[in-house]
This record gives sequence, C-alpha cells and structure tokens, in this order.
Amino acid sequence: MTETPIDGTVLVVNAGSSSLKYQVLDPVTEEVIADGLAERIGESSSRIKHWYRGHEVVVDGALADHDAAIAKVLELFAADGVDVADSGLAAVGHRVVHGGRSFFEPTLIDDVVRSEIERICPLAPLHNPANLVGINAVSALLPEVPAVAVFDTAFFNGLPDAAATYALDAAVAEEFAIRRYGFHGTSHEFVSRLTSETLGRDYGDVNQIVLHLGNGASMSAVAGGRPIDTTMGMTPLEGLVMGTRTGDIDAGIVFQLSRVAGMSIDEIDVLFNKRSGLKGLCGENDFRSVRERVEAGDEAARLAYDVYLHRLRRYIGAYMIELGRVDAIVFTAGVGENAAPVRADSLAGLENYGIEIDPERNAVRSGEPRLISTDASAVAVLVVPTNEELAIARQSMAVVRRSA
Ligand code: ADP
Repeated sequence: MTETPIDGTVLVVNAGSSSLKYQVLDPVTEEVIADGLAERIGESSSRIKHWYRGHEVVVDGALADHDAAIAKVLELFAADGVDVADSGLAAVGHRVVHGGRSFFEPTLIDDVVRSEIERICPLAPLHNPANLVGINAVSALLPEVPAVAVFDTAFFNGLPDAAATYALDAAVAEEFAIRRYGFHGTSHEFVSRLTSETLGRDYGDVNQIVLHLGNGASMSAVAGGRPIDTTMGMTPLEGLVMGTRTGDIDAGIVFQLSRVAGMSIDEIDVLFNKRSGLKGLCGENDFRSVRERVEAGDEAARLAYDVYLHRLRRYIGAYMIELGRVDAIVFTAGVGENAAPVRADSLAGLENYGIEIDPERNAVRSGEPRLISTDASAVAVLVVPTNEELAIARQSMAVVRRSA
C-alpha cells in the first residue's frame, strides 16, 4: 500500500435516509483531514459539501442513491490526489443507531453482523435501514478497508432492569423486544469520560448528569462510569422536548388521534417525530431563532421555551435523587454548548442543593471543556463539547487493532 495523506486515519460515516455525513480523521492526533455532507440524496437537487485540508467544494447535481453519493465523494478525494481505496485508510467507522439486544460494543462488520443489523431494523425503522445502506455503499467501493459498526445504544446496555423495563405486559414486551435502550450513547460516554478528566478525577469515582441538548436531546445519569438511567427509550422519541419530537407524551394521545382524529399510525409517527417539540409549539426548531423570539417577547416561543425547560428540570431532579450524590452536571451538543440561558435557567434556584452557576463563567464562549459553576458550588457544572466522530474513530481503530 502506498503512503498517502490519509494513511492511518479513519473514515467516519453517518448515513441518514437522504443524507450522508462523513469525516476523515486521525484518532490519535485528533486532526480532521476531510469533512463533508451529501444532502437530498435521491432527489434532483442533491448537493455535496466537501472539505479537504482547508479548501471546500460544493457540488450540485442529482445523486440517485447512497452508492452514487459515495462514488462522488471518492471522486472529490481523487481530484485532490487521494485514492481513498489505496490510501492506507485504517478503518471505516459507521454510526448505527440501534443495536437492539444484539450489539453492546463496537463490532467489526461482516455478513453475519450485516444481517443482524437488518433483523433489528423494525426497532429503528427510521434509522437502521439508512445506516445499512451506508454500510453497503461504502463496502462496495472500499472492500479492502475493515468496517466497524458503532452503536448509539451500546453505552446504555447495562441500564438496571428497573430503568430499562416498561410496565407493559411482560410477554408482549419480551416477544417484541420492547424495552428502554437509550440513544446518543457514544456522546454520553465520550462527554462523561472527558468530564472526569477535566475534573482530574477517576471516571469510576464521579457521579454525573449529562445533558446532550442538540436538535435531538437526551439526558443520562452516570454513576461511576455506569449509566443508571437515560431519557430516551425504545426509540429516540422518549424523554426531553426536542427540536421536532414530543419527548414524553401520554400514550393515550395515540388512541385519541387514531379514534377521534382518524389519523393513521404513520401520520402519528410523523406528527410526533417531525412536527412536534419546539417546532410544533412555535413553528421553529432552530434553538437560536426560538431564543431570539423569546427575547423579542413572542408568546408562542416563550411557551415552547418554558415547556422545554420544565422537562429538563423535571429530569434533573429525578436524576439527582437516583444518583444520591451528584458530583457534576454537564452540558453538551449544539444547545448545551452554546445557549448560556438554557444552562442558567435549568439550574436556577438550586443553591440549596449545592448547585450554583457563575454568570461570568457561563457567558464565556469556547470550544474547550470548562467549569461554569462558582468555586463555592458543591456540584461542578461544566460545558464539555461532544465529538461523536472522534469517539467513533477511536473505537473503530481499537476494534481493527484487536482483530488484526
Ligand atoms: P444535532 O446533531 O442533533 O442535529 P446539534 O448538536 O448540532 O444537533 O445542535 C443543533 C441545535 O443547536 C440547533 O437547535 C441550534 O439552533 C442550536 N444552537 C447552535 N448554536 C447555538 C447558539 N449559539 N445558541 C443557541 N442554540 C444554538
């Protein structure tokens, strides 16, 4: 194999139903070498934004499917003189949303693994099929490069039964694998580990609450490195109010919408996953716009923000009790890393519980892990930027090394 500019790096792939995000990065130096996004795959208006070592190209033009998108991305690399197939790329790491009860750790992909991911598609009908298409498309073009699946559910595999079990007819739950799996696990693990490092403490000694607040949002309670609860459930729909998802909702609403409103199950699925949350409440799921409207006195945005915060505070309270002792509360992802008012409002008035944010520290903008609580605060409050691509790259590299 020839030594080329991406030798020893990992290609991280996150395939959605009509999109494909990718990054080439060095899991050791953390250097990002290439980064890109193919959108609207399958439509005539497809677009690829591709960035390689400091320069960006945007390519418009129909991409029939994921195979066409990957082929085009490899062409863009070739235009920069990189033959990805013969470049010494160490691994491809695929984000796979649902590992069901089959996958608890990053796994080298072979035909057996592929068919098992396919078998559990009914558990994540919106995500796993797309992930699989991504896996097949990449392996068709890069057959020599080992591919690893990194599951979003894996970190939460060890949830205690009391947290993972729905109070549902046990036989039905067993037959259809209905239980709480949890998602965003790669991020929760990465951020909780980095929090311990930032505090200079052993991972096993720190009890923490992690708030991953992006467009999708979830919270976890991690006791000494072991997750004991998380807000997402069998699917990513449960828990916090999100950009377009309801989060927790009375299941009786499904009966009402079906019987009285005459909606089909597919329509209710779209309503709950795509037309609810902040978007459903105020027409907007981009948190920056919601905040701007709150500041301008917009009532719908105010209610959306209040409902969002109410849910956050409910879970923070629950997880404080579940953990018993809390050492750290950590904010991450787009909203958690950038929206200082959300951090301040979600922990306001908790001084009696030893939680006190320092307004000046909270206002600092930075890409680094940082403490935002006062020196007197018994509980450390932090902002710790997540990096799921780096976590996937490291885990994929580790699997490839072990299996070599
Ligand atoms: P995902 O990966 O789930 O798509 P991200 O973690 O990228 O989401 O977070 C996206 C969210 O972060 C959007 O709602 C966006 O508005 C919000 N966000 C980004 N920057 C800011 C900011 N400066 N203030 C408030 N919200 C922000």
